[in-house]
Amino acid sequence: MLRYESSRGRAPALTFPDVLLTGLADDGGLYLPSEWPALTDAAPEDYASLAAAVMYPFVEGAIEQDAFASMVNDTYATFDSPDVCPLVQLDDHHHLLELWHGPTLAFKDVALQLVGRLFDHELDRRDERVLIVGATSGDTGSAAIEAVRHSDRVDIVILFPKGRTSDVQRRQMTTVDSPNVRTVAVDGTFDDCQDLVKAMFADEAFRSRNRLSAVNSINWARVMAQIVYYVWAAQRLGRRDIPTTFCVPTGNFGNVFAGHVAAAMGLPADRFLVASNSNDILTRLIDTGEMVADDVVPTLSPSMDIQISSNLERLLVELLDGNGPATAELLQTFRERGRSALTSAQHERLRAEFAGARLDDDETLAVIADVHRTHGLLIDPHTAVGVGAAERLRRPDETVITLSTAHPAKFPDAVEKATGVRPELPPALASIFERGERFTVLPNDLATVQDYVDGVRR
Ligand SMILES: *Cc1c(COP(=O)(O)O)cnc(C)c1O
Repeated sequence: MLRYESSRGRAPALTFPDVLLTGLADDGGLYLPSEWPALTDAAPEDYASLAAAVMYPFVEGAIEQDAFASMVNDTYATFDSPDVCPLVQLDDHHHLLELWHGPTLAFKDVALQLVGRLFDHELDRRDERVLIVGATSGDTGSAAIEAVRHSDRVDIVILFPKGRTSDVQRRQMTTVDSPNVRTVAVDGTFDDCQDLVKAMFADEAFRSRNRLSAVNSINWARVMAQIVYYVWAAQRLGRRDIPTTFCVPTGNFGNVFAGHVAAAMGLPADRFLVASNSNDILTRLIDTGEMVADDVVPTLSPSMDIQISSNLERLLVELLDGNGPATAELLQTFRERGRSALTSAQHERLRAEFAGARLDDDETLAVIADVHRTHGLLIDPHTAVGVGAAERLRRPDETVITLSTAHPAKFPDAVEKATGVRPELPPALASIFERGERFTVLPNDLATVQDYVDGVRR
């Protein structure tokens, strides 16, 4: 059975079910498998079968193959496209991979619909319950809520930055009427929400009395589910054996890291283009080899309004040759001084695989308008950041697949501003504007938030 180790090297190795329920490692690190299994040669033509084949090595020994295949099947049956993640051609060398055909219209569903089912399976087996706390900059919250709202074994509390998510994003979370779902608007930024969640996990007494669990992007199972669509996209383009470049609109670095894993497992990938909005710490890191903190500025692509990309740690430990304590030290320096530098050899390795570009809001709107004019297609601002970065960075003959991460109707104001056309929500979601909202406003204060969580546990 595959073992999972902490990126900081000071927590016990775990098996898949423990990693699933634990989220963050005891030493503050993120779990990674001790080795990368090779991709299967099998190339089934439906998404769910491919997904089961690609992911099985990560869960083998912990979940029966048939049970796993049936969970994966149920997961992708909730998507409204027969391809699950369909490809759309922009031109001869540029394709969009639409990852938003799940229940909440953003790519987070691809992973979280599966994670919800994995949680129920494992909690049933153990006859246990958990309380999930998570921070969201917008899309994770609704996707996580949608993944567990019918569960008898899971309670969920989602923190979001007050006033910094779109109306659609907020209503998708706050109009869910399930006894196990709570939403909290925090007076602060997404990074503040994420820090609160991290601090709750770091408080051992609090963590164990609430049986805390996480489904935010640090959870390994989410990265695992995202590996699949890189393989899928390459296969659909007939490029399982030909290197392809992927362009990924990036916030927490989880999505692009999954692409890196697909490559490590044997998918021929040319390079990964990291697309940022004005919160561009990652693109600056790739350009300069230095990680320098900056304030978070709100943009039209709020799910990428992040300066501290938690999943970057998974790549850093690899750049540091698997040295967990050195990784912890690098991140500690960054926390304390607001900056940390890679060595030039580490920076070279980073640049061999990744390139970055950043788009501000005006450039993002221009891309939305241009794609609409040229292709008659409405794209959301996150996708537009990706498309713009791909156009800027791609070499003349390079084939690029840009990941399209949200339905345009999740961000109607930006799309309308750019194109004059207001994208409509699919009928299944339109009712969120008629239902009442339920949420609690709390200050950015750990003790207050902990009191609240202690009070809602069932
Ligand atoms: C979460 C999200 C992203 C960023 O993904 P990461 O895995 O955090 O890099 C981009 N676009 C949308 C629409 C998202 O919801």
